[in-house]
Amino acid sequence: MPYTSHGHWYGPGEPTMPAPNARARCGGPRLCAVCKREAGQIEYACRFTSWTNTDGKDRQVTKYDQTGAGEAGLLSARTLAKQTRAWQPHHDLPADAVVVSRPVPEWTVVEEN
Ligand SMILES: [Zn+2]
Repeated sequence: MPYTSHGHWYGPGEPTMPAPNARARCGGPRLCAVCKREAGQIEYACRFTSWTNTDGKDRQVTKYDQTGAGEAGLLSARTLAKQTRAWQPHHDLPADAVVVSRPVPEWTVVEEN
């Protein structure tokens, strides 16, 4: 792992193992969508319509089930979206579950030692 399938190191720290022979000129995790996803800088969720009843009235709301970052998060979100679309119509809901993603924000140093 610490290299993406395009051959870019994504940490932590400096490379601790030899680089693969082939490295794509894709820009690595900062610029390339594939590298970014594999490096875990994108997190995923399943977004879907569901029922809520917090005040005694049934209402439809948009919900997000977060499944995590990187390749594993994407695969979990895909499975969850498929399963959710299967049960929604049985509960008078539109079968609208989809996989959504957002970038994981980077930490910024606000106080130096
Ligand atoms: Zn790449």
